[in-house]
Amino acid sequence: MSVANTEIRSLSAKKFDRPQKFLDFCHNGGRPLGGIVGGNEVTGTMNATFQTIDPGSHEVLATVCEMGAAEVDAAVRSAQAAYSNGNTGWRHTAVEEKIAVITKFVELCERDRDVLLACEIFDGGKVSELAEGDFDQIRACAEYFCEVAKRITMGDGSALEVAPGVQGYSYREPWGVVAGIIPWNYPIVLTSWFIFPALLAGNCVLIKPAEDTPLSALYMGKLAEEAGFPPGVISVLPGRGELTGQFIAEHPGVRYISFTGSPGVGQHILRTCDRHGTRMKREMGGNGSAIVLADADPIEVARKIGRYTNQHFGQTCCTIHRVFVDQAIADDFIEAQRDFFGSLKIGYQAEEGTELGAVINSTQQERILAAQRQTVSRGGQALLSGGLAEVSGKSGYYLKPALFQTTPDVDCNPAEVFHAFATICPVSNAEQALELANRSPYGLGASVWTKDIERGVNLAKQFRDGTCQINCHNQIAYGLPYGGQGISGGPGAGVNCEETFTDYTQIKAIYVSQYDA
Ligand code: NAD
Repeated sequence: MSVANTEIRSLSAKKFDRPQKFLDFCHNGGRPLGGIVGGNEVTGTMNATFQTIDPGSHEVLATVCEMGAAEVDAAVRSAQAAYSNGNTGWRHTAVEEKIAVITKFVELCERDRDVLLACEIFDGGKVSELAEGDFDQIRACAEYFCEVAKRITMGDGSALEVAPGVQGYSYREPWGVVAGIIPWNYPIVLTSWFIFPALLAGNCVLIKPAEDTPLSALYMGKLAEEAGFPPGVISVLPGRGELTGQFIAEHPGVRYISFTGSPGVGQHILRTCDRHGTRMKREMGGNGSAIVLADADPIEVARKIGRYTNQHFGQTCCTIHRVFVDQAIADDFIEAQRDFFGSLKIGYQAEEGTELGAVINSTQQERILAAQRQTVSRGGQALLSGGLAEVSGKSGYYLKPALFQTTPDVDCNPAEVFHAFATICPVSNAEQALELANRSPYGLGASVWTKDIERGVNLAKQFRDGTCQINCHNQIAYGLPYGGQGISGGPGAGVNCEETFTDYTQIKAIYVSQYDA
């Protein structure tokens, strides 16, 4: 994702070879990679393993042990012990000491930058330009939350005289054991966004990486140990969502869950958490819209929207998949957008010049193909019809881009389609565009494209989305909330702001009356 920068980092690949250290890590001395529980690598009592593959070539990168209920329980217990440990646990560790360990951890990530880039590029199927931008988020996120942690008062707030002889004050403390359930599309970024605020607030964390991309979290887990985090402060629990993830959601010792993923899974986990009072925040999918006003340059804006839409091949939660363009410029816009998508270079993600690589797995590939068919059956007119693509010498999950023209009367694009996929709907005016954009139950990111900034801001504020943009999209900045409205997220402001830090704390009221019996 772009970080407060209207320059669009997303598209092209440099040639990238697997570094030896990455190969050694994946090989793990001939043993499957274990989870990390209480500072130890564990194979898991389920005796189950799964293979993680390169989506662009189907090559097996590593075999990984799946964590069962026993490992989740052991991770919770070791986190509870590390959290308290008498009066010397992680919750009692001074913020300066926490910052020192986190700083060391960031330095180790930078020492092994090539390994972590290889995880993103080969396990996550990402082009190098985007992987490099993602990698930079480790330091940026850590530094932002280290500053926030210095500002926010934990423990006792200032006292009020609430009644004669009665004092009251607030008391802020960490939750204790918190879990981060992470999707596959931005593993390093989303692991960083979870662990830094959670750890700095004093919690011990369980990281549940997506089954498609477990490598970066496992490698970061090893670096955390080297950085000097006490055993149990950070555990990494790879496995399938319906098993390992479900065991985490069902464990009453997990006090808080930070979930990033699809709305359906988020809703399911929320119901599970509710059964035993585990709190949860959810950052979920989107179906982003862009409104292009009549005064915009149709060709330049079509190119920019195309670049944002294709960020990580359209597998970016907040990006643009629905475009509403003023009919006065629609013909030129549509032609330019079709040219842009039609000329994307489809290829292997680690080969020079690739702009559109493979999608992450066969399920996604099938879902995207089904969505292309459904868009046509709902009345969408194919400008680029999508379908399977072939890349010479590679057997990955390749697809062609898809673009459809639609009309305002039928919603041909109701659900998130995670690919270089968009619908373009010519509209009579901005008000009609806004009404159509806001009909979606999703609400993550939206933008207005116009020379008239004041009008653009006025319209953008009316979006039912967490991130509203003018002449840019996919924007994220530390200090501003990144979260979703509607089925895209909540509760809470989102990630990357001060409220994110306080999400990882709970607050109580303390009342003290004199003993006058
Ligand atoms: P997903 O919902 O399928 O899986 C997300 C995580 O949940 C994975 O780790 C998975 O193993 C786990 N999981 C699945 N079932 C579970 C269960 N029953 N209990 C506990 N855990 C379970 O999502 P995905 O396909 O990995 O990721 C893509 C989705 O994530 C898209 O919808 C995308 O828009 C969204 N996303 C949102 C943001 C954001 O910040 N709003 C960022 C990135 C991705």
